[in-house]
Amino acid sequence: MVSAPSGAGKSTLCKLMLEEFPEISFSVSHTTRSPREGEIHGRDYYFIGKEAFEERIENNQWAEWARVHDNYYGTSLTLIRETLEKGGSLLLDIDVQGAEQITRAFPSAVTIFIMAPDLEILEQRLRSRGTDSEEAIQKRMKNALKEIALKDRYNHVIENDDLETSKNEMASIFKRELR
Ligand code: 5GP
Repeated sequence: MVSAPSGAGKSTLCKLMLEEFPEISFSVSHTTRSPREGEIHGRDYYFIGKEAFEERIENNQWAEWARVHDNYYGTSLTLIRETLEKGGSLLLDIDVQGAEQITRAFPSAVTIFIMAPDLEILEQRLRSRGTDSEEAIQKRMKNALKEIALKDRYNHVIENDDLETSKNEMASIFKRELR
């Protein structure tokens, strides 16, 4: 399970890990937020409506779910159960609220928090992505502070100053944990 404030480089690192460890599949989350340019339904997220999401809350179909930046995000319980039953491994890219729920339900889950070098760089990276409105960026920055405050609850914290170093650090955690 990997969490990080938006802009810390989490998606890039997750992608690199999925390439290096083909035995791990990405847990495609469901969200009520709109797709960003280039995002594909079923690959990046399952984009669903608010009502459909809430219905699945009622029916206990989420392994975890959370409201992040005014949208719902959730991980399918069936996906996790089926993967674990087959002896497979999943990479979850979820926020701190979700990570706590998963840790409680699946205590053997390994948690990694990725830190951006500093808040200024974080904000720069969010802006350079060019996909979020000013309001969304401010919301993400506020949320980042809250998330960073909880980083010590994670099994591993990676300071993402340099992509190559972080990649090696993350790969060595994966190798140890997959053994
Ligand atoms: P974004 O909208 O930038 O794709 O994601 C925003 C935040 O939602 C990120 O911190 C991401 O890790 C988190 N997130 C994505 N999928 C899930 C999920 O299924 N559950 C939870 N709790 N958070 C998620």
